[in-house]
Amino acid sequence: MSLDHIPAPNVYDAEPIPAAARAEIDRLLLSGDLFRYTAPSDAPVALLEREFAALMGTKYALAVSSCSAALFLSLEALGLPKGAKVMIPAFTFAAVPSSIVHAGMQPVLCEVGDNYRIDVADFRARLPGVDAVIISHMRGHTSDMDAIMEACDAAGVPVIEDAAHSLGTTWHGRKIGTIGKVGCFSFQSYKLVNAGEGGILVTDDADLVARAVIMSGAYEHNWKKHGEDADLAGAFGRWQNKLPLYNLRMQNLSAAVIRPQLPEVARRVHDGRANHDYVAGLLNASPWLAVPDALAAEDRAPDSIQFNLVGFESDAKARAFADAAAARGVKVQIFGLSTDNARAFWNWQFIPGDLPELTQTRAMLMRACDVRLPARLQKPDLDFIAQALMDAAEEIKGARAA
Ligand SMILES: *Cc1c(COP(=O)(O)O)cnc(C)c1O
Repeated sequence: MSLDHIPAPNVYDAEPIPAAARAEIDRLLLSGDLFRYTAPSDAPVALLEREFAALMGTKYALAVSSCSAALFLSLEALGLPKGAKVMIPAFTFAAVPSSIVHAGMQPVLCEVGDNYRIDVADFRARLPGVDAVIISHMRGHTSDMDAIMEACDAAGVPVIEDAAHSLGTTWHGRKIGTIGKVGCFSFQSYKLVNAGEGGILVTDDADLVARAVIMSGAYEHNWKKHGEDADLAGAFGRWQNKLPLYNLRMQNLSAAVIRPQLPEVARRVHDGRANHDYVAGLLNASPWLAVPDALAAEDRAPDSIQFNLVGFESDAKARAFADAAAARGVKVQIFGLSTDNARAFWNWQFIPGDLPELTQTRAMLMRACDVRLPARLQKPDLDFIAQALMDAAEEIKGARAA
């Protein structure tokens, strides 16, 4: 494969926002109608909620300012006391334990395997005494939701799915984000649907969504703009004036950017999966690189690829691999080896109390590599990236290096 003439692909640029967004943004700018509760009905944010709930097949959706806000509101909406214990995988983004701290609750970390998924035995062992769990499908990797739901249902522990990076992923054909009591998604720019910032939660639970709607900032009777069904009206009646308003609303411009991207989701999922699986096949041919298999029930929607370095006995060698890939134009993040990485649990020093040690997760993070692989890349781009990674591994570990 001669790829010398092709420049390294740009994996950071986003896809253009569909043109339909422009007309809608222009209309909103001309009218100044940016607040979700000004229009009597059918505000862009309300339409987004209806469309997203239909896409996911849930009764309710609430659009907010970020996935972190959706996680925080989900925890608050469960009505748990301050100090409640919330279990999360030790491999996730710092925003997830942060949402728990924000809610005045205590994160409990569990081990993650070298396939980036929750270690179910460790999860079960730590479940007694836990009040809720947030299953973070980190980088879109789905943990064993059969085992997790069985354990949590038996223990009566509610499950929040952090599906920030899992829009379009399915488990036994069921949409990720709809398996737990509530699912939270992100529209931040590095996710499948890009609005710069934004988030949404989905649930079938009228009481939970009513609480979240009020706390998101539906003051007075603005909750009436969230739909008519009787369960919802009853729940809003119960919670009127009983809950604090955190004002984490989404504004109309964000919805105008998001809505025309929803019809693009299926294509992005298809292309992202094909790109990922193609590169995974190439990397797995190298004795030094291993892309863990997806679980059997899982159909993924990746926009990046993660793989483990095999036989790299020292951190120095692992760093040398990342440098060798960078010299070839491909940036590799090794989660545990980059300074102050927000996905390394030992950097979550804001968690109250002593930070726990999770040796298995730490070992994984020290050799787990992360490379962006946006759905818009074409085959020559994918070949370039895979070849650069394989050549970099060969440079550090191959016969010449010995
Ligand atoms: C991006 C991300 C978040 C945070 O989403 P925001 O919308 O930026 O708050 C949380 N969890 C995971 C797994 C993420 O990838």
